[in-house]
Amino acid sequence: MAYRFGPILLGQMHFRLQIWARPNSNIHSYSVALAFLAQEEHAASRLHKNNDGNADEVHCSRERSRAAWKIIEEYLMPFVEQEKYQLSQQCRLHPDNDIYRDQEQHKIHVDINEWRCGYCKKSFRSEKYLDQHFDNRHSNLLNISHSKCLADLCGALHCDLVTDFKAKKNKCNPSASARNKHLCEGLADKCFPINQGPSANRLHELFLRQFCDAHTCSGGHKPFSRGSKKHTSIFYLVISILTSLLVAIFYIVVYVYRRGMRKDSQGFKRISRRGQKPKPS
Ligand SMILES: [Zn+2]
Repeated sequence: MAYRFGPILLGQMHFRLQIWARPNSNIHSYSVALAFLAQEEHAASRLHKNNDGNADEVHCSRERSRAAWKIIEEYLMPFVEQEKYQLSQQCRLHPDNDIYRDQEQHKIHVDINEWRCGYCKKSFRSEKYLDQHFDNRHSNLLNISHSKCLADLCGALHCDLVTDFKAKKNKCNPSASARNKHLCEGLADKCFPINQGPSANRLHELFLRQFCDAHTCSGGHKPFSRGSKKHTSIFYLVISILTSLLVAIFYIVVYVYRRGMRKDSQGFKRISRRGQKPKPS
């Protein structure tokens, strides 16, 4: 059980006080931790007012939002579609709750070196330049009225596994893991409420196994343990191609072997006939 107080502001630093209770021990032990919250995960889509007090700047990482979406698309949506389940707007994983979704859908990848803006049809050499163009020219199209920064969910969704922003495997931080688990379980409860029928129950369970179990420093659980539907179909395709190849090779070997046997036996007959030929006259 975790109690959270805060945020507590110390100068420019932003802290949150956490008290942890471990109900399994005989005597409830409590530990107090000051969790430093400087991470992007808590940088909800904040807006910065400039000196004029009007123009807004979005503080939500586009790249991490894209990573989060990639994970949702690959490791969650196939299961949601399989259950024919409708995510509610209240669920932060709903496509409408990603401020960049509309822009991402307006990217046209023409060629390796050509990316086109779907709004004004201007072409760019790489996705990076198109991203900059979106920021410079089409930021007015971003719906930033609510907390819709998908990058904020990166902690729960293990974005680091699909990006190379951080060097692999920093030392596990128990309080960060606990925080991410809490965020993760919150998403499961909000997106797949357990009282909303068997589909929601199954997806709730899947979400916990797929994303939340791995938020621990004790190890043993890997993220995305239920796999990805896309990969499984590719896996089955590869397996079936390999099997058909093996079967074909087997039949060719059998055919060649039997042909060889037939030739040998014909040759043997001819030799034996020749051996019998000289008759006494
Ligand atoms: Zn454009």
